[in-house]
Amino acid sequence: MRAPAKINVYLGVGKVRDDGFHPLETVYQAVSLYDDVTVTSAEEWSVTTMVGGPHVDHLAIPDDATNIAIRAGKALAAHHGIDRAASIEVNKNIPVAGGMAGGSADAAATLVALDRLWALETPDEDLLAIAAELGSDVPFALVGGTATGTGRGEIVTPLEDNGSWWWVVIFNEEGLSTPSVYGAYDLLEEGDHDYRIRPEMLDALRSPQPSGLDVFLYNDLETAAFYLRPDLERTAEAALECGAIMTLLSGSGPTMLAFANDAEDARLIASRLGGRGYERTAVVHGPVAGAHVVAYQ
Ligand code: ATP
Repeated sequence: MRAPAKINVYLGVGKVRDDGFHPLETVYQAVSLYDDVTVTSAEEWSVTTMVGGPHVDHLAIPDDATNIAIRAGKALAAHHGIDRAASIEVNKNIPVAGGMAGGSADAAATLVALDRLWALETPDEDLLAIAAELGSDVPFALVGGTATGTGRGEIVTPLEDNGSWWWVVIFNEEGLSTPSVYGAYDLLEEGDHDYRIRPEMLDALRSPQPSGLDVFLYNDLETAAFYLRPDLERTAEAALECGAIMTLLSGSGPTMLAFANDAEDARLIASRLGGRGYERTAVVHGPVAGAHVVAYQ
């Protein structure tokens, strides 16, 4: 299975709810940076990870039952009341704790992989419900493309998107925990604000031209992430100086995104960033498909 990283082209965050979650209105986009997951039936649950580059912190990935891929497999087995296990192999390219929902991608890939391997034929509705229990971003990793996310992000509605958007992903060596960013957001947030997606943004997504989108790219968590990690603001400045149309914090960070006109511009920005010491980058495009089968043996 192959599952994509996500970015949030828009992320509006409301005041924390009684259950501790923040209400969100987000526009997700699946981008061409993938984790590949292979499953094999086994006596015991196990997970092994191979990393695809220096931007993936191997040490930060659990190799026990706390790995979200195993949690996903167990949740699927429990849903069907079956006592089965699998060995899961993850080839990881999505940064860990990078704000690109890498763990969620692994969970989504594992759900679909085991559903196929064990011929369970789980209805999509049930897969999405199991995904939502595992994490707010897991349902989107199943759906892919471009979609709105509401609730805490788990209620996913696909959007019409006719363009192809090019991004330079700027990795960061140090992960940033999602709860710490939301904590800083709660401290810094002043009063209520309208965090909803504006209809003009959905119109811009329908257009095949990227030119309309740049004015809507926005992330409510950026101020909090920059407060915790001032180096991220400097990264954004560098990306603008290197030709980015706009920059954006990816999810809760610390990965930064530079929005480019097209593929050529994106490669140029990445190469200029390299010259300024930002060597860990990837040029990606979106939207791409959600978790999907790539090989079956
Ligand atoms: P999000 O954007 O959903 O907050 P993220 O991309 O910032 O996610 P993840 O890479 O999904 O963060 O991982 C968050 C934490 O979950 C990691 O610090 C790690 O300890 C733990 N984890 C559990 N399973 C996995 C997995 N399969 N891959 C990566 N991290 C995992």
